[in-house]
Amino acid sequence: MVTYRGEDQTDRRWEPQAQPTRERLLEAIAAVSALHRPVTDRTGWDGKGGYDDVTPACAACGSDDNAVSWPCPTMQALGSLQSEETP
Ligand SMILES: [Zn+2]
Repeated sequence: MVTYRGEDQTDRRWEPQAQPTRERLLEAIAAVSALHRPVTDRTGWDGKGGYDDVTPACAACGSDDNAVSWPCPTMQALGSLQSEETP
């Protein structure tokens, strides 16, 4: 029995967090992929001091006038995972 400040903690044990299922993980990847998609109507800094269209850019990362080039770091991180995905 674990006691803390004199209270019996038997009923307050930490339960391990439920492990997500494969289906749930694939749904999460699909939701992220739906947000992070290429668009062609954004502008931003080119990293060399210039400011111009960023095509393609990520729809979710950055902002309309400070775009992040496609594929964004999020989709780069998911990229190898998606190619391994099988139905
Ligand atoms: Zn993104």
